[in-house]
Parts: sequence; C-alpha cells; structure tokens
Amino acid sequence: MEPLLAGRRIRIVTLGCRTNLSEAEALASEMEARCARIVEDGPWHAAVLVSCSVTGEADRKCRQAIRRLRREQPEGLLVVCGCWAQAADEEEARALGVDILVGNRRKSDIPELVARCLSEGLAERVILRGDVRNDSRWDGLRSSGPVLHTRAFVKVQDGCDHFCSYCIIPYVRGRSVSRPTDDVLDEIRSIVAAGCREVVLSGIHLGDYRPEKGGTLAALVARVAGVPGVERIRFGSLEPFSVDGTLLRVLSETPAFCRHLHLPLQSGDDGILARMRRGHTAGDFIDLVARIRRSLGEDVHISTDVLVGFPGETPEAFENTLRVLERAGIGRTHAFPFSPRKGTPAASYPDRVPDEILSERVRRVRDASDARLAAYGRRFAGGTVRILVERSSDTSVEGLIPEYLRVEATGSAEQGTIANVLVAEAQGELLKGRVIAS
Ligand code: SF4
Repeated sequence: MEPLLAGRRIRIVTLGCRTNLSEAEALASEMEARCARIVEDGPWHAAVLVSCSVTGEADRKCRQAIRRLRREQPEGLLVVCGCWAQAADEEEARALGVDILVGNRRKSDIPELVARCLSEGLAERVILRGDVRNDSRWDGLRSSGPVLHTRAFVKVQDGCDHFCSYCIIPYVRGRSVSRPTDDVLDEIRSIVAAGCREVVLSGIHLGDYRPEKGGTLAALVARVAGVPGVERIRFGSLEPFSVDGTLLRVLSETPAFCRHLHLPLQSGDDGILARMRRGHTAGDFIDLVARIRRSLGEDVHISTDVLVGFPGETPEAFENTLRVLERAGIGRTHAFPFSPRKGTPAASYPDRVPDEILSERVRRVRDASDARLAAYGRRFAGGTVRILVERSSDTSVEGLIPEYLRVEATGSAEQGTIANVLVAEAQGELLKGRVIAS
C-alpha cells in the first residue's frame, strides 16, 4: 500500500458500541498501513471521531468530543463518521468545526480522503453520506491487526431490519447486511498472524448474520474456532430473540468461546416489551438464560442493557424489570434512561416518565447491578483464572478473564499473552491476585 500518510499523526476517538470499536480498529489499521502514526495524545494532523447516536446522551457526548478535539487542535483536519454523522444537521456540524462528515457504509473511503485532504488542503467541507436504507453493500474497511486494543474487534454484520419502536439505529445504520465468511476468516488469519489471540465478533444485530445461502452465526463460530492461533472468541451484543438451539450447541462445543454473553433485555415487563416491539417476553428471556446456563455452565456471565423509563412504564412495570434481572441472575447491567429519538414511533408515545423518577430508576438498576456483579466476582476468589494481558509493567498486569471481569495482579507477564492468576479477593467486580506459573 502506498505510504500516503507517512509522517502524519492521526488521532482516533471512539464512542458507543463494539461495532464502533471494530470500525475504529479497522480505520487505525488502514491508516497505519499507509504509514500514519496513530496517537492517543499530543498534536495531530487529523482526528477521526467514530460517533454514536443511540440516545440523546450519546448525541451530547459526540458534540462534547467534537468541541474538545477542535479546541485541542484548531487547525487539524477533523473527521466525524458513523451514526451521529449520518443524521447530523450540516449547519450544526459546520458550526462545531467538523471538516469532513462521513455517514455509515462509507467509512472505507476515509483513509484515502484524509490523505488527499492533508496533502492538497481542504478547499471546502466534505460530506459523504448515502441512503443507507437502500444500500446493501458491505463497507470494505478491514483490519490486519489490532492497533488500539489487545483483542481484535471484527465486524461481521451491519444494520438492522428489526425496528424496535424506540431505536434510531435501523435508520442510521441501514438494512441488515452480512460480511462474507471467507472475508471474515481472511481478516482473522491476518490478525492472528500479527500476534492477537482473541477475536470479538461484532455486529449491530449479530444474531442476524446470514452471509451466504444457509450461512449462520453458529457456522461462523465453528469456522473461526478452526483458525489456528485463535484462543478466545467473544461476541459483541446479541439480541435474545436471535439465540437458537443450534447456536447454543456450537458455543458449548467450542472451548475457545468465552463464557460471557451480552443479551439486551431492555425491559422485564411484557406490556412495555410489546410496545417496544422487541419480539420477546420477560418469560422468553428467563427461559433463554436457563437454557444458556444448561449449555454453557452455571457460571456463565450474562450481562444486559435496560432502557429505563420507556413511556408508560409504571412503578409495577419497573419492578418487573428488577425482578427479571434478579431471577435470571444477570451480572453487569447498563441502564439507559429513555430519550425520544426523532423519527422513531416511541418519540410520540404518551405517558412519559418524569426526569426525576427516571434518574431514580436508573440509579436503582445500577445499584442492583453492582451488588449482583460483586457477588458474581466472589465466586472466583481463591481460584485460578486466565487473563489476556492488556497492560503490563515490571510488577503488575491487568486483563480480562473469559467471563469478562477485570483482573489486576502483581507479577509480570507479556502484554498480549495469556497468564494464570491466583485470585486473592474480589473488590466489587474487580478481581485482585498474583500471576502464577502455568
Ligand atoms: S434489534 Fe432493536 S435495539 Fe437492536 S439495533 Fe435493531 S432496532 Fe435497535
């Protein structure tokens, strides 16, 4: 590849989901392949913000990040791509100081565009956005090895056709498209060759992975597990209504699959779930978690997202959510307050929950989550766990166990390797211990 970005310092900032993380990784990798230097701080020639628009709060964080980057480097080339960029008002983006706005399905154009603008100068602001609802192409951005993380986020699916009533994502990410399996496997082979041992298969609606005739996520996992050098496989978020018996069987037969699943519940009340158009009931979710535990073991960590204060959420409906979380033994729970997304059906639903009640409910979900997660962490005290070392110094290491709890340990091990740690104690969801010989 031509060294079009030689000598250029590029900053990449990511907000939002694991699919955004995989796109940020791929952007960093593509920029490095053109000889750019990816920097986390200090001056930069160009910055790329991979943006999110899933909630009103996500929009606010995007604007905040844009202002911060602009303040940092008033003359630098500022690119904003992804979900916020897809829907952003052009005037607002201009006023915030954005130079290049790139919507979804066009991110693979960014490396060449940045190289051109840096060498020729920016004559005028650039806007690259298409009609994602009528675009079934796969955006060909790819990574040849993790640059920003020790584990590799590999995007295999994009978009969503489910249209939950509150969700803006199908409008800004477009229709569901899947990446061809051979292309996924090619990327994973180069990632492993670069020394990475863990891959995180990511997508907006990952369970909807249908690449070629008869292709499924289960079949993909089996093939990824067959790539020599892949020691750990994880999933990004997986919609509960897309988990079937075949997938569970394949996961249970795949030792490399990490015992952690993130299954967004959103609500534990059947009336609210129906109005959300989720496609599952509270009972379906509880049954699914029971089946997962039978297949993958009692100790599997199930984490979730909850959308708190959906219009019409009564105190009883909210209590139903807390009960489902407790009954299913859910670990880490991300609680998001409902915010109306313009253009979605739920934006005009009556019976909005007042802000102070909304904040109180978010706090209660988070407190209950912290308590359950701490109890889950205590299961590991006194035992040995295996971590993928993300950070290491001469005297300490840090990394994640397959069940997605963070470990801090004394001792040494090389970054990117898998180390054994004897866990002395759990402090909340953090495990503390020391590295021991394998
Ligand atoms: S499944 Fe529902 S929540 Fe998930 S991206 Fe699609 S519409 Fe949004």
